Amino acid sequence: MTPAQAADLLRRGQLVAIPTETVYGLAAEATREEAIRQVFALKGRPADHPLIVHLGDTAWAAHWGVLPPLFGRLAERFWPGPLTMVVPRLARVSPLITGGQDSVALRVPRHPLTLETLLALGEPVVAPSANRFGHTSPTRAEHVLAEFPGLPVLDGGPCPVGLESSIIDLTGPQPRLLRPGQLSRALLEEVTGPLALSSADAPRVPGALERHYAPRTLTRWDDGQIPTGRWGWLGFSGRGATFEVLMPSSVEDYGARLYAALRELDAAGLEVILVERPPQSPEWEAVLDRLRRATA
Ligand code: AMP
Ligand code: MG
Repeated sequence: MTPAQAADLLRRGQLVAIPTETVYGLAAEATREEAIRQVFALKGRPADHPLIVHLGDTAWAAHWGVLPPLFGRLAERFWPGPLTMVVPRLARVSPLITGGQDSVALRVPRHPLTLETLLALGEPVVAPSANRFGHTSPTRAEHVLAEFPGLPVLDGGPCPVGLESSIIDLTGPQPRLLRPGQLSRALLEEVTGPLALSSADAPRVPGALERHYAPRTLTRWDDGQIPTGRWGWLGFSGRGATFEVLMPSSVEDYGARLYAALRELDAAGLEVILVERPPQSPEWEAVLDRLRRATA
């Protein structure tokens, strides 16, 4: 499939999986409510989980949201790229997209095939990750087909970032990081100043953790006990498990590899997957966030 063909399907109200630099998205044209309903139905996603509107150019944002000064500075620095900004919405934004809220999440993705698709379409798309709700996000075209056989996929190769976008909420008095991503907090704060604490920073109580981005196989942190039976290992060096995926030590490479690694482990017929804790340092915030949710 070419970007022109993808744009054609979207224009006719069909769903297409598109590559972004973060993960593959399940795209529907953002003005077609029937197509947006199908996105929720196919994913099994609760209607109150809002969708991100993916734009072909920063200039499109003014048609969808009310843009504070900080919006322009962040867009200038990080778009196209793995940053989503939440701003007050304009009236034309369907409440299906926002989960009935007064705000809308906007992003210009960086993947060249998706930018080409958006420019050919001339309208934004909503594009949550192309997986069933709660499951691991797809970072390769074959992952999308494993989730949704027969879905049209624009194959853009492996996603270079591999983790969902950072989300900054610009609707309040102080900008807030709602979801950490590859762009580190320190890098974002160069533009925003101090970011308010998000729920991701709140003290973590086991029962309160949201299980998300998760394999189907029981997945937990390494606690030093070797399990009985067939077990898997996601770590930096070998541990003698039945099936092991050894991870790179650089945080960018780790992030790009993580979801494919979880899928390989999930497919290996294991009783449990153990995860070695990466460094507890600020650059690892997004990876640690996804691993906490996968092991919740
Ligand atoms: P994804 O699941 O990667 O498509 O990301 C969608 C996520 O973006 C949602 O689950 C929310 O966390 C966030 N989001 C989207 N729209 C809004 C909004 N209007 N207000 C707050 N968060 C939003
Ligand atoms: Mg998702």
